Amino acid sequence: MIIDLRSDTVTKPTQGMLDAMMQAKVGDDVYKEDPTVNALEERLAKMFGKPKALFFPTGTMANQTAIKLHTNPGDQVICDKDAHIYNYEGGGVSFNSGVSCKLIDGHRGMFTAEQVIEAINPPDFYHSPLTALVEVENTANRGGGSCWDFEELKKVRAVCDTNNLGYHLDGARIWNALVAKKETAKDYGQLFDTISVCLSKGLGCPIGSVLIGDEAIMQNAIRIRKILGGGMRQVGYLAAAGLYALDNHLDRLAEDHKKAKEISQVLCDLSFIKKVEPVETNIVIFELQQKTDESKFLRSLDDKNIRLSSMGQGKLRIVTHLDFTDYMHDYLLSALKAFKL
Ligand SMILES: *Cc1c(COP(=O)(O)O)cnc(C)c1O
Repeated sequence: MIIDLRSDTVTKPTQGMLDAMMQAKVGDDVYKEDPTVNALEERLAKMFGKPKALFFPTGTMANQTAIKLHTNPGDQVICDKDAHIYNYEGGGVSFNSGVSCKLIDGHRGMFTAEQVIEAINPPDFYHSPLTALVEVENTANRGGGSCWDFEELKKVRAVCDTNNLGYHLDGARIWNALVAKKETAKDYGQLFDTISVCLSKGLGCPIGSVLIGDEAIMQNAIRIRKILGGGMRQVGYLAAAGLYALDNHLDRLAEDHKKAKEISQVLCDLSFIKKVEPVETNIVIFELQQKTDESKFLRSLDDKNIRLSSMGQGKLRIVTHLDFTDYMHDYLLSALKAFKL
């Protein structure tokens, strides 16, 4: 038994999901003739109250496409210093769109509307890059699965409106936020111009992300996806996993959140742990008293078949997910309580 808590991307499709995939009706999605992909796109568009949705192989490609749709080369994107688009997409913002990021020094991956106002370059000051887009992440990964305050997101929307800026949500883990905060997808659809969602994280699909947005901005999305190499053929087999996950794996995210909270409570009581970030969803970020003990700590856990990940700067991360069973959870809690560093 391996307890793999490095990420919620490590899950494998359940038997029910595999059955749904094998029974999928498919067609060539580059011609938009795959009925299962079309059904998934329609379902997500409707769920978020938006006219358009487009299936992507990865969340990175969905985000990169959104950034391309919102910007011209030379423009600037406002995002948090911990943003996935800035830290974990291979520099794609500059490679694909020729834009730079203006980083906000936020708190747990989130920032305020005030900070956005400060980050905007005056459009008539032609020495500076033109600010074109504000990007937020919910939940914020490096923030420890933190959830935005919806009222603050509304204030940021108002700033975008006043300054004629696009507003994109990296909603790779929006499902976790919806369940944790009891919000609806439509709340988010009303607020953002574009939203990317991942099916391959908490929802447990092997692959898949979807970009959802307004008619005008999404018009060119299929072209950008093609340019990035994301036009796929009989991909309904994968979309079927997404439809299955929306029916079966959404509400259960509350279990992942409960487990994450219980893990954080045990970690808080361990003498060699300095700090545990507040847990709101399925991510636990913590620091050891001595950063130098990190590799020893990870190795000893590995000897007990427990895997977690290091995020650099002394931060360790645990992510709970569909394949982390109650039995594994009990084993982990006991192992941690008995742990000697
Ligand atoms: C995982 C993730 C993505 C997309 O990553 P892919 O591995 O390309 O699917 C985007 N944003 C956040 C915050 C993520 O955690």
